[in-house]
Amino acid sequence: MVFDARLTWAGHIEKVIVKCKKVLNVMRCLAGVDWGASRKALKGIYDALIKSVIDYGCIAYRDAAKTTLAKLDVQAQALRICSGAFHTSPAVAIQVEMDEMPLTLRREQLTANYWANLQGQDRSHPTRAVIQVCWEHERVKSQSFGWVGDAIGKEMGLEGKEFSPTVQLPAAPPWDYKEMYIDLGLLEEKQGIGMDKYRVQRYLMEMYREDLIIYTDASKPIDKRMGVAYVIPKLKVKIGQRISDDLAVYTAELVAVWLALLWVEVNRPGKAVIASDSSSALISIKTCQSKSRQDIVIEIIQVANNLLQSGTEITLIWVPAHIVVVGNEFADRCAKQAAGNSNVDIEVNYSKAEIKSMVKNIVKGKWQTLWDSGQTGGQFFYIQNKVGKGRNMNRSKEEEDVLSRMRYGHTRLNKTLVIMKQHADCNCEFCDSPESVEHVILQCPKYQEERQSLSSQLQRKQLRLNLEDILQRSSGEICFKYIFSVLRNTGLIKTI
Ligand SMILES: [Zn+2]
Repeated sequence: MVFDARLTWAGHIEKVIVKCKKVLNVMRCLAGVDWGASRKALKGIYDALIKSVIDYGCIAYRDAAKTTLAKLDVQAQALRICSGAFHTSPAVAIQVEMDEMPLTLRREQLTANYWANLQGQDRSHPTRAVIQVCWEHERVKSQSFGWVGDAIGKEMGLEGKEFSPTVQLPAAPPWDYKEMYIDLGLLEEKQGIGMDKYRVQRYLMEMYREDLIIYTDASKPIDKRMGVAYVIPKLKVKIGQRISDDLAVYTAELVAVWLALLWVEVNRPGKAVIASDSSSALISIKTCQSKSRQDIVIEIIQVANNLLQSGTEITLIWVPAHIVVVGNEFADRCAKQAAGNSNVDIEVNYSKAEIKSMVKNIVKGKWQTLWDSGQTGGQFFYIQNKVGKGRNMNRSKEEEDVLSRMRYGHTRLNKTLVIMKQHADCNCEFCDSPESVEHVILQCPKYQEERQSLSSQLQRKQLRLNLEDILQRSSGEICFKYIFSVLRNTGLIKTI
């Protein structure tokens, strides 16, 4: 990063822009309309060579002056090249079409992520000092990370949440632990033949006749709320507990296994089998590796080790969900019920990954509010009123570009050409009304015949003959094929 004496970041941003402009030129060379790189490839270049450069250090340079930050409009230019849009098309619409949030929000997201990451670091981390509470805090208002990070964390409702340690190491070296047997036999079988409850029951009878079987499960029946449960049919034990909101299902599955292990630790049944329907949780435990919840995996391995050392035989087994394995169904129902408890029974801290996904949702909500309240999206707003839903980009470059241009309402038709000063008036040569996308598709008498057959195509899909239905992301894909054949037959594809 480039630092200047007064920390205006002008030098750094200048450097970022020079770097990105070079990439923009490469992208322009690659992006012919009916030849050259696909939209997917161009977006890949943007992600790798422009987005990454803009992102780097943005947590620090975010406090630069607004005018300085505004120079970073290379994002808009790059996305314009990706989507083949004319420079008259509104930038906010292109962001929604390409599923790239505005840079202000992107910076907010990355700041919140980094802030959450620091919360989980231990005190020896050099940057952690900046988020410590200090006497200055009340007196000075500064734009630096310590202040802004706290403010953003507070605004997003992350303040006061417990964060799991970012780096987690087991108390003893992993090779000293006794390994617990993890039976994925049924999982391997599942790929081959059909699995029914009798097969599962028989398998358990054959392999674990002597053992006490404990079923675990996690459930998220209501928005946000999370319940976990372990059930021992033989002893009529049924324990369900509500854990902290907003956790990932995977985390909850691990917590359920961990609780079952704790039960074993207290009651010492001699030989126990814990059955879970979460293959990802069991595989994490088996490999002692988890991207998001290393802390719980290590906890589980440590408890299991204690049990094994003291002579309790303990096995984990995968069983399929939703095929009426009785114990598994009980556990599922019990977890669902527990999620309805009025209070959280067990506080589980949040991992970096979980906070990240929370932040992502919050920022997406902000983007949506921005999109809803903005007046600059034009016709595109009515066609695509939800943000964060990029279209899949599997069509040819030409088709993708034509589609996007029609959606933006900025095409090579006269209505746009007038803005670009390439046409005297905006009128249609055939019927003298303003020539817009809407005019061509819905009104111009020149295309009456095509319109009628399009209308009957749409009726078959239960869609109406209006721009929203025709150009919508979801319903659109169905009739795009037909629209393109019409565009080709009439030669309109070259005009748009
Ligand atoms: Zn016309």
